[in-house]
Amino acid sequence: MGNKHVVVIGGGLGGLLAAIKLKEAGYTFTLLEKNQSVGGTWHENKYPGCSCDVPVALYEYSFAQSMVWSKGYPIADEVEAYANELVERYQLAPSIRLGEAAQSAVWSDNKKVWDVTTVSVDTIEAMAVISALGQLNRPKYPSIDGLETFEGPAMHTARWDRSVDWSGKKVGVIGTGASAVQLVPPMAETAEHLTVYQRSPNYIVPRPDQPITPEDKALAVTDLESAMLIYNLNRQLIYENAERMSWKAFAWTPEGRAAFTARATNFLNEKISDPELRAALTPDYPIGCRRILICDDYYDTLNRDNVSLETTHIARIHPNAVELTDGRMVETDILALATGFETSDWNISVEISGAGGRTLKDDWADVARAYYGITVSGFPNFFMLYGPNTNLGHNSITSMMEAQMCHIISALEVLDETGASALAPTRAAQDTFNEQLQADLQKTVWGDEACGGSWYKTDDGFITQNWSDTVGAYRDAVADVRREDYELIS
Ligand code: NAP
Repeated sequence: MGNKHVVVIGGGLGGLLAAIKLKEAGYTFTLLEKNQSVGGTWHENKYPGCSCDVPVALYEYSFAQSMVWSKGYPIADEVEAYANELVERYQLAPSIRLGEAAQSAVWSDNKKVWDVTTVSVDTIEAMAVISALGQLNRPKYPSIDGLETFEGPAMHTARWDRSVDWSGKKVGVIGTGASAVQLVPPMAETAEHLTVYQRSPNYIVPRPDQPITPEDKALAVTDLESAMLIYNLNRQLIYENAERMSWKAFAWTPEGRAAFTARATNFLNEKISDPELRAALTPDYPIGCRRILICDDYYDTLNRDNVSLETTHIARIHPNAVELTDGRMVETDILALATGFETSDWNISVEISGAGGRTLKDDWADVARAYYGITVSGFPNFFMLYGPNTNLGHNSITSMMEAQMCHIISALEVLDETGASALAPTRAAQDTFNEQLQADLQKTVWGDEACGGSWYKTDDGFITQNWSDTVGAYRDAVADVRREDYELIS
């Protein structure tokens, strides 16, 4: 393989973006995807009701609009279809290896290239590696006594078996996060009874969804120019609303937080009239600490006769029942584990070994630190999409990844311009960035001590997942490859 070959690890939306932009910039690539299909999280999450709580206009790439969508907020299967459409549209298939997980990537200080080894023990030589492994792909199973003795299906939301029929069955749902609130309404429709086990409530705001009908699409095709004008104006409106208004729930503005708290509280009060249920659904931490849920039908579903919200904690699980700490037993046929993902330890599944044989695992043993979540000191020509501290609460991750990919292509161009073999951020630049980042994060809601834990933080409260500002601020910060922050290796 020549000097312009890059290995991309992961075939979710991030990996596909990398593939498209590399191809456009004249690089060859091999994309390794462990699953038999592209789509990443949208391929893996098959639970009922799975969808994206970011509007289509913000979630699809700014350069690749699609007609695949049937609603203003994307359905998971449609995002997977979008991923396949990208493969087709940009003719990426010949460079994608499905069912092929990367096992290790080792930088050679002598050859100045990466040797990437796959599970089928093939080794690919590449000038650069782009890791697009995602943040939310290792299911977190609850450590509840007796779970392994449960006789019925007990499925994590990210490992759902669509052949399981829950009609007429007694269903237990553990968890009340973004996955649970999507899963509960469709399951409740046909379950005999559904019990939601809630450890903590979340703030929920309405989802202003609308169908995108075949007629809308047919009309757009008759006058694509006008359709694109309207689409772009709408996208800009949604983007600016996210950046200027939604961000205020997360920035340290009392007015913003008060307004968003009121929006969520009003929605709760409007939907739930039972004072006891309302109290149980009222969070005791500031809004924004955890993901604000955007969902119309969860509260309505909790009002159904065949649905109960259980706030007493689970003591243990028996073959056919859930036992609560007050001794009550809830007969159960199927358990849905909407218990989230392993995140903050960043135990990435590929062994990455950089300059001098230092591994990323060792480097990140205490805490994951990178330079704008894209590059890591000591790891030449190693790049990440959706890396540490690039998650958001208010806007779309795909916008962040577009900015990251621009930075990566610019970095590769620096190599072309200078004749250098590789580049990596200096330790000083990375440390300065992280000090400032953590200081800035303390000015956001995630730094609020009243927040408690979440998947955004380590157990010690160190924020490893979230970016500290708006997408615009991030895009500006990574627009240039600042030479003084990078070390060139000839
Ligand atoms: P999550 O937000 O981490 O929620 C996990 C839930 O499980 C929480 O309610 C948690 O309670 C509960 N839980 C965990 N362990 C438990 C135990 N041992 N006993 C009882 N309850 C337990 O996970 P998620 O809902 O899968 O969402 C994770 C992230 O995925 C989201 O924040 C979002 O970024 C992404 N996501 C996005 C979408 C979308 O529409 N774009 C949809 C789904 C997911 P505590 O809160 O008390 O810890």
